[in-house]
Parts: sequence; structure tokens; C-alpha cells
Amino acid sequence: MNETNQLARLREIPAPLLAWYDRVKRSLPWRELPTPYRVWISEIMLQQTRVEAVKPYFERFVADIPDIPALAAVEDAILLKHWEGLGYYSRARNLKKAALQAMERFDGQLPADYPQLLSLTGIGEYTAGAIGSIAFGLPTPAVDGNVLRVTARLLADETDILSPALKKLRRQQLLSVLEELSRPGDFNQALMELGACVCIPNGAPLCERCPVSHLCEGVKTGIAAALPKKSPKKSRKMQQMTVAIVTYQAETLRHHRPETGLLAGLWEFPHTEGFLSQSEVGAWLSSLGLSPARLWQAGEATHIFTHIEWKMRVYRATLAAPPALPDSNYRMVGEDEEDAPMPTAFSKLLAL
Ligand code: SF4
Repeated sequence: MNETNQLARLREIPAPLLAWYDRVKRSLPWRELPTPYRVWISEIMLQQTRVEAVKPYFERFVADIPDIPALAAVEDAILLKHWEGLGYYSRARNLKKAALQAMERFDGQLPADYPQLLSLTGIGEYTAGAIGSIAFGLPTPAVDGNVLRVTARLLADETDILSPALKKLRRQQLLSVLEELSRPGDFNQALMELGACVCIPNGAPLCERCPVSHLCEGVKTGIAAALPKKSPKKSRKMQQMTVAIVTYQAETLRHHRPETGLLAGLWEFPHTEGFLSQSEVGAWLSSLGLSPARLWQAGEATHIFTHIEWKMRVYRATLAAPPALPDSNYRMVGEDEEDAPMPTAFSKLLAL
């Protein structure tokens, strides 16, 4: 299909898609009351995280930190505690940065303007499009991987969906569609809903349940299930490390990560590069001033980030007396302490 025909086909989608969305849309907490703040928080949480996993985090976050002034004023440790387990912690830090910017430049509100939304830290084209359309009724496209997949199948478009040129074209085409609609937010959400529930990733699309199958070029040409086309991903960097879970009574030793980079500012278990033997771990802990009464290997675990994969060999050590810690980046932390948020990569090791 050429670009003109693609646009003509996309213009036929809204009527059946919106009728379907009105019938079947899932009830989600952020849909109940789509204020700009709630849409923003939900969209940031939903990046890289499943809907079901986000729900309880969202409810707790907006109950405890209900608006932009509260977010701008929240302590970092409390903010990160509300994010603990969601991963990609830079999202939470960027929320606070953007809240401070909104306090300074927009009177503590999110602006009803696409370029101004884009000027806030952590708000990219997709999120600005979602906030603009859902919360403010603006004709702003929200093109993410879901929308690229659905439209690739609908239009039988075999272009690599990771190509920036394709994303730009799709934004322009959807902008033309949205400008003719009275419900741009619902249209964007309906397209996302179709991608999440019917035209699903990682498997055959459920075309028999699709409200736009009669308009789907991918079905007509028989190539829907082979789409989207995607260039192969770069392989992840592998890192081996040894982690020590050092315990004194009900407290464990934590180390504060640097304020920049991966998992910035969170409290991890001490670790060092490479896989160490038990005697090497003893020497390492001794260099930190620790003399465990017991030391044993607890197991191995893997944690996958977008670009890095950690292979962790985990040792447990118990101390007979309170330790003298090397510096203020180390702390003994009790189970209930709220001000030392720990990334999932480490907290899951406690189960070993
Ligand atoms: Fe996707 Fe099938 Fe619907 Fe086409 S008919 S948009 S492939 S679910």
C-alpha cells in the first residue's frame, strides 16, 4: 500500500474501533478519573511494566503523593520506596524533576500544550501524546511499540518497526486521523487496547475478535502473523558478579549506589566483579572490615536489564557482633526500614 492508501485505510478505523472500545474497555484505575496528573503517573509507570503489576503501585502512589506540589516536595527515599519493585528507577527521579519544573514554569500544573509537555524531563513524544489526548482532548498521537505493531499489521506494512522514519510517518498519519475526531484520547486508548488484548505481541493476533478485521490488509494478504518486521536486537552485555548478603541479627548490610547511572541512589547488597570462591569472598569481606562467624554460598541468580544481564553468585554471611562499617556508604538496615529502597535485582536474592 502506498502512503495515500495507508492514510485512507487509517481514516476508516475510528468508527468500528471506538464502538468496540466503548463495549469492552478494561476498567483501570487511571481511566476512572483521567486527570493530567493521574494520566502522567500511569503512563510513566506503564513504560516497561505490565498493567496488572502497575495497578497497586499506581493506587498507592496517587494516594500518598496526590498532585504535582506533593511530588515536587517528596523526599527522594519516600519516592523511591513507592517505586521499589517497579524497576527503571530513573523514571521516578524524572517524575520529581518534571514536577519541580512544572512548579516553576506552569504554576504546579501540567500544561495543555504538546511542545510544553515535551519540555518536561522524562516526557517524550509518546507520553506527551497520551497526556495531551487523554487528559486535555488534544489531537496528539501516542505512538508506541503497540501502535506500530497494530498499524503494521493493519496496513500489511513490512517496514522495520524500529525505523525512526516509520515512526515519524505513523505519527503524521495518525495526527491527520486524530484531527478529524472528537474523541482523540479514546481513539489513542482504543488503539492501545487493541494492541494489548487482541492484536497482541509475541504470538498470533486474535483476528477473530478484532473489530477492524474487515479493514485489515495483513489478514487480506495473509501476512498478519508474520508482522511486524523488526531488525534483530543487539545482544546484551553480560556481567558476572559476586554478591554478599551479610546479616547481623535482623539487619542486613547495604551499600548506597552512586547518584548517577544504573539503579542510581538505591541501597544494594555489597558486590564485586567476577565469580569469587568462598575463600576469596572471605578475603573481600575482611577488606571491608567484616569477619563473618559463618559464610556459605547460597546460590546463583540472573537479572536482566534492557542492555545488561547480571549473573550473580550469592554468598550469605552472618556476623557475631555489630560491624564497624568502612564508610557512610554502608549501613545495616532492618526489615521494616523505609528509607533504604532496594532494587528488585537484589531483593529477590533474599529468596535464595
Ligand atoms: Fe491485528 Fe488481526 Fe486485527 Fe489485523 S485483524 S489488526 S492482524 S488483530
